[in-house]
Amino acid sequence: MDKKKVDSFRKRLLTKQEELLRVVTKSEQDGRAADEEATQDIADKAANSYTKEFLFHQSDENRRLLQLVNEAIERLKDGSFGLCVACQGEVQQKRLEAVPWARHCIECQEKQDHGEL
Ligand SMILES: [Zn+2]
Repeated sequence: MDKKKVDSFRKRLLTKQEELLRVVTKSEQDGRAADEEATQDIADKAANSYTKEFLFHQSDENRRLLQLVNEAIERLKDGSFGLCVACQGEVQQKRLEAVPWARHCIECQEKQDHGEL
């Protein structure tokens, strides 16, 4: 992969990393704030735990994505970026452009989706 492309992927990944870090941190703070709010009646309590659960689930997804982005940045550093982590083949350019933190090429992703990897 040429340097210009690597640079543009790096820029996108770093932007995404920053964005996710902000979201993850914020939802953790919101979760705590929901905890601290004094809840008087049962309806409030139910709404509160619903909000907390929602925030929790959401931050879970974001955390997982952040992990993938971090790994992709590591691969940029060690030069294995753009290679499938399973078969070491090149990940399709189009796929990388859509999902720069993709770990697998399309074939391996399909195998993984079917539980074959
Ligand atoms: Zn593969």
